[in-house]
Amino acid sequence: MRVKSARIHAHGGLDQIVVDEFDLREPGAGEVRVGVRAAALNHLDLFVLAGIPGIDMPLPHVLGADGAGVVEAVGPDVTNVAVGDEVILNPGLSCGTCPNCMAGEQSMCPRYEIFGEHLDGTFAQAIVVPSINCHPKPERLSWEQAGSFALATLTAWRMIATNAGVGPGQTVLIHGVGGGVSLVAMQIALAAGAEVFVTGHSEEKLKRAADLGATRCWDYRSANIAREVRSATDKVGVDIVVDNVGEATFADSIKACRKGGVIVTCGGTTGPKLPVDVRYLFWNHIRIMGSTMGNEVDFQRMLAAVSSGAIEPVVDSVFELEDTVKAFERLQAAEQFGKVAVRPS
Ligand SMILES: [Zn+2]
Repeated sequence: MRVKSARIHAHGGLDQIVVDEFDLREPGAGEVRVGVRAAALNHLDLFVLAGIPGIDMPLPHVLGADGAGVVEAVGPDVTNVAVGDEVILNPGLSCGTCPNCMAGEQSMCPRYEIFGEHLDGTFAQAIVVPSINCHPKPERLSWEQAGSFALATLTAWRMIATNAGVGPGQTVLIHGVGGGVSLVAMQIALAAGAEVFVTGHSEEKLKRAADLGATRCWDYRSANIAREVRSATDKVGVDIVVDNVGEATFADSIKACRKGGVIVTCGGTTGPKLPVDVRYLFWNHIRIMGSTMGNEVDFQRMLAAVSSGAIEPVVDSVFELEDTVKAFERLQAAEQFGKVAVRPS
């Protein structure tokens, strides 16, 4: 079957993204073909575009990790979905047989793979995926919402719900609000009954975070975040820090954390080398927890939270597949508040 896609024939800049057609293979045993109604960008796509050291992906390569659509064809031995089902995709794949998979920690699988990174992705009119990656689309969501929340929401859920155990009455500092994961982390923390402080680098984004329920909003480029947090918490510090900004904010994150608090991270948008003063770390019993994506239980729980309306996926903008480069430009400029979606068909 010929499908139109946004893919790269070589690594590099945005000029490497080409919208063209290719022959999509038929689904094999345990696989289905999903007609993609909506997909969305993640920072991961920018890394894939540039090329990721250590990951040798065959080219040409279809971009995109997030997606939702309708099951169009099923291969042999598929029992959990049928033709016509509306589904969202779990972007992660694991081997299912290693000790970590057997322990239920799929995203710790040594052979863990993500659509659009290790395998062809969702920026296409259709994609062939294992049927176990298909989950029912929450009915109340638009296609653009449904196709854009999985990766960021799963990642945020793992960090702040599973790892940090956010709960009522806690205080949470979230850096870089506006980015997909940080925005969802804020929604999860608020839904859990926590008080949320945010930082960002745009007045507009901080204002929107305040509208959604953040009680303190600071520009991390100009404010002394550690001092502001101390002052807002009677010198105690926050229970949880979500820091995916990295080099620009991590020194403040450690100083803003209360004794026994936890800092969770899934990346560093301003750079990977963290300034860590070990004196603050040990004296204050601070834990730093890293994670990537989440396991099946995390996925089910975050999907339930989205289905119930506890988390509302925020879509910043929607682009047609032909305009995928424009979608990337928006992400690269860090102008977005919420997810940048792509509509393939
Ligand atoms: Zn495994």
